[in-house]
Amino acid sequence: MMKRLHDYRYIVGDKVISDIYRHARKLYGKRIIHLNSTYSGGGVAEMLHNLAPLMNDAGVETDWRILRGTVDFFDVTKSFHNALQSDDIELSDHIKNIYISTNEEYSVYAKIDHDCVFIHDPQPLPLIQFYAKRQPWVWRCHIDLSNPNPGLWDFLKGFILRYDYVIVSRDTYKKEDLPIEHKLFAPVIDPLSSKNTDLSQEEIDGVFKKFNIPTDKPLITQISRFDKWKDPLGVLEIYKKVKSQIDCRLVLCGSMASDDPEGLEIYETVKERAHEYLEHGDVMLITLESNLLVNALQRQSKVIIQKSIREGFGLTVTEALWKGTPVVASNVGGIPIQVKDGETGFLVEPHDYDTTADIIVDLLKKPDKGRKIGERGREYVRNNFLITRLVIDYLELLKEILE
Ligand code: UDP
Repeated sequence: MMKRLHDYRYIVGDKVISDIYRHARKLYGKRIIHLNSTYSGGGVAEMLHNLAPLMNDAGVETDWRILRGTVDFFDVTKSFHNALQSDDIELSDHIKNIYISTNEEYSVYAKIDHDCVFIHDPQPLPLIQFYAKRQPWVWRCHIDLSNPNPGLWDFLKGFILRYDYVIVSRDTYKKEDLPIEHKLFAPVIDPLSSKNTDLSQEEIDGVFKKFNIPTDKPLITQISRFDKWKDPLGVLEIYKKVKSQIDCRLVLCGSMASDDPEGLEIYETVKERAHEYLEHGDVMLITLESNLLVNALQRQSKVIIQKSIREGFGLTVTEALWKGTPVVASNVGGIPIQVKDGETGFLVEPHDYDTTADIIVDLLKKPDKGRKIGERGREYVRNNFLITRLVIDYLELLKEILE
């Protein structure tokens, strides 16, 4: 079903909806385009999937197009992605040629005559040099830019300098060596997506039954890929400490990409270390991908843990806060932007297992405390990290650029 701003009215309130229409009024007749390199998979596609219809509903004609690329091209851009996050890279002429010529080929048949162009991430970045520049172009980078590989960064800067604005997700991703105006758009969630939409207790029970998760004990959960930076082994150690004081169950839910050998290795180690708890069903490892399951787990759990050692933004935290479930999370990356310690959740140092376990035990013993914190967490997300805020971010920027 088509998404409409009206559907969000009872979630964000009348003022936000009317603000969106007010901002859009100055932009009637303008046509904008978003361009990235995939229709599905990953946060960018999901965000554009939600954003484009809402912008159109507001009255700003919004196109969303996809850059076509070959397997070679995506191998190259994946290595760019990793190198932007500080990995090594061998930047040969061959690699540069694959990157640039794919963009050039696309430009031959993709007409861009819009009033403003938004280019997402590095894949379509060089496109700008194959069009006569008749409108503002904005580069929206969703990647952590705090420590890019210097050679790659210098190469990409050659394209970025043609842009009028750069949008990043966090303050620390702004680039001082880039003399272009930067904007900061924090990530958001869509409260009406299947991962976040309200569920009745009956629906939650149905999901737990379907996935064979018992509900006889209080549940604590971490939802994260089996990745060393998400520290599932640390979660297990904390669980052992909690379990020695209060009976409960731990679910570690992380969908597994078949091409990620590291994930499988970490999963196997967790399985081995959790052996005695797995036997009794006190620890459950889930590798299935299901939005509904994530939603139900985030709602049914007494505590959501996010014990990351490093974290980009931490959308799992946003999602859990939105469900009013108390969150105990590491003070790293984008987590402290969302979790205000003792107010919207609890912040812990990643290696302080004792304090983390004590906070979880306390929350399990005092559900009222968790409920109050959870309510404040939900309100914080309502005011700061929902898709309607992103619509306003884009409209404000467009007004600044086009008025
Ligand atoms: N996720 C999921 N199933 C899983 C594990 C994660 O759907 O088994 C989702 C999670 O709900 C969130 C995203 O993947 O929307 C992870 O985003 P986050 O920013 O927390 O971490 P990342 O994986 O991008 O480092």
